[in-house]
Amino acid sequence: EDPPIWTSILTYISFLILILVGHMREFLKKLGIGRVKNISEPNIPGFVTLYQTWESFYHWYIFRRVINFGSYNYLGFSQNTGPCAEAVEKSVNELGNAICASRQELGYLQIHKELDDLVADYLGVEAAITVPMGFATNSMNLPALVEKGCLILSDELNHASLILGCRLSGAQIKTFKHNCMEDLEEKLKEAIIDKQPRTHRKWKKILIVVEGIYSMEGSIVKLPDVIRLKKKYKAYVYLDEAHSIGAIGPHGKGVVDYFGMDPKDIDIMMGTFTKSFGAVGGYIGGSKRLINHLRLRSHSAIYSSTMAPSIVQQVISSMNIILGRDNSRDGIKRINQLKWNTRYFRRRLQEMGFIVYGNKDSPVVPMVTFSPAKVVYFSRYCLEHGIGVTVAAFPAVPLEKSRIRFCLSASHTKEMLDKVLEMTDKLGDTLSLKLSRKEPAEY
Ligand code: PMP
Repeated sequence: EDPPIWTSILTYISFLILILVGHMREFLKKLGIGRVKNISEPNIPGFVTLYQTWESFYHWYIFRRVINFGSYNYLGFSQNTGPCAEAVEKSVNELGNAICASRQELGYLQIHKELDDLVADYLGVEAAITVPMGFATNSMNLPALVEKGCLILSDELNHASLILGCRLSGAQIKTFKHNCMEDLEEKLKEAIIDKQPRTHRKWKKILIVVEGIYSMEGSIVKLPDVIRLKKKYKAYVYLDEAHSIGAIGPHGKGVVDYFGMDPKDIDIMMGTFTKSFGAVGGYIGGSKRLINHLRLRSHSAIYSSTMAPSIVQQVISSMNIILGRDNSRDGIKRINQLKWNTRYFRRRLQEMGFIVYGNKDSPVVPMVTFSPAKVVYFSRYCLEHGIGVTVAAFPAVPLEKSRIRFCLSASHTKEMLDKVLEMTDKLGDTLSLKLSRKEPAEY
């Protein structure tokens, strides 16, 4: 549903006023009227002290204990008291803090090999390579896979790391409408020379780049259709599962698991450890040939130091828990809890009359507030009342589609969810965010 037109008009008027005020300040500055100065200018007597006082007040104000609804701690593994803590501590004691060398030097320890193998096993592919940073996994590995003369078909809402990787590759990039399979097919049709066999195509390779869950929209990629199209038009698929791996699917194995598909149908499986695994870093999984190629060609593998052993251990421990290899049902409980929390939270918001974007199983829950000013009020109010939420506003999203993003976790209790729902309900009335009210269902 699109927001009512008056919200857009209000938004544009407030922006216009802001711009006018900005110009007025400049104008006054030129005339030398008023003390409209940059607060960081050190030569204004007393201003620095004032600024520093304000800054420390701001820090005091901002750094407070809150219930966290703004981090991608989907399965709750980032807690220091979590089930991985003991093994992580042991690895620091045994292997130290850092490696200080790349995988091609002396930076590849047995624990890294263990992780590479575990990731491949987790994904159900032949091999995997791990990278110390999720962002770099995309931006440094895409250029090792496609080059000038190749075509990339990229979803218009793809993450900045994917966009950077695509641009660095030198391949021609075309975007298709978000999750729109008709548009993707149209672009694929345009890309191939009619009825020519694969070898006579204009492009060396066609790579379709998509994400599992889109974190601004909460939408889930239409993977079965993407696979159908890639097979029909003999293209390759690069799937970024940063937000879906661990977070969805009956076994926590992402969108591939969610749709019950064969992982081997996806040519390049990418993901990060920064969300469901409570760590840092990323991976690429696929065929042995692909991974061997990346080991030799990817900048992230050759020129970047490997992951700290404690981080590697955190991923190994959390993955083993998800896979049930710790002989407990902790992993599956977390997966089910996240699913329950997600469905409950989304349905309650919808019943209250809010506009909520995305799939019912997506743990990122974007709630539209229409006006950018309202997201600021909303998040400030929540912060003051012990709840941390993140917001997305222009230019990250269209001006009138500013939104609050609740990121759900298996660690959220029902009491926590109810607390934030109650506050959202109240703020929804104050800020006129609701469209209609429905009766709550039983849970
Ligand atoms: N891909 C996607 C889809 C992301 O949302 C992000 C960041 N949240 C990344 C890659 C980069 O991952 P990282 O934060 O682990 O560097």
